[in-house]
Amino acid sequence: MLFEIQSIGKIQSPFTHKFGIPRQPELVPAAETVIVLNDEFGVESVRGLAEFGYIWVQFVFHEAVAEGWVQMVRPPRLGGKKKMGVFATRSPHRPNHLGLSLLRLVRVDDSARPIRLICGGSDLLHGTPVVDIKPYIPFVEAQTDAPSGFVQGAPPQLRVVWQTNHFRLPENTKAIIEQCLAQDPRPAYQDLPERVYGMELAGVDVKFRVVGDEVFILQINELA
Ligand code: SAM
Repeated sequence: MLFEIQSIGKIQSPFTHKFGIPRQPELVPAAETVIVLNDEFGVESVRGLAEFGYIWVQFVFHEAVAEGWVQMVRPPRLGGKKKMGVFATRSPHRPNHLGLSLLRLVRVDDSARPIRLICGGSDLLHGTPVVDIKPYIPFVEAQTDAPSGFVQGAPPQLRVVWQTNHFRLPENTKAIIEQCLAQDPRPAYQDLPERVYGMELAGVDVKFRVVGDEVFILQINELA
């Protein structure tokens, strides 16, 4: 069957490039995310929503569409060494390229169109098309004792070491950089202590290196 769906809005996030985006929501809480609804949605469409603490956001991995999909992927959680079926993972390279993130709803700004939903830190690229929003209902959806396959608990964190002058950066930008780097954004299979990586986010270009369980921030350049 063929269905046609239209986006209902767009994501605004500090993540302007795919590299370095956290792999799940709330791993970088400083990275506030805003869902901007299309102008056709009025105050009626969000009536009652502000009373929920979390929302399910369905979206399209639009920057993965051209790359297609695969039957099996190498989840970063398994160090990129083992393959799992695409339906056992949260990979963007899936049929239909649909994503689902549970976002903390901070505030609903419905004072004027476009309506804006201000959310906690997401795992979404700036510009991601949103296709639906639903309230999160803990009594049916929170199954905290369910087996969770190869994903056991939160991922380990790196210790962040600043080796460059950063006192001019806004506090929130510093927090986003630190929280992102602590997640170890390198591809899972790479352990190259000499390699310098670059990551663009929140209006800056960050150069860093990872040695053992420490990440060294080498240089920060403001983007024009
Ligand atoms: N929580 C969602 C889910 O389970 O469907 C997304 C999980 S997926 C592992 C998160 C990754 O998707 C991010 O780290 C980023 O690399 C990638 N991503 C986020 N937004 C994207 C977009 N619009 N297009 C392509 N890839 C995207």
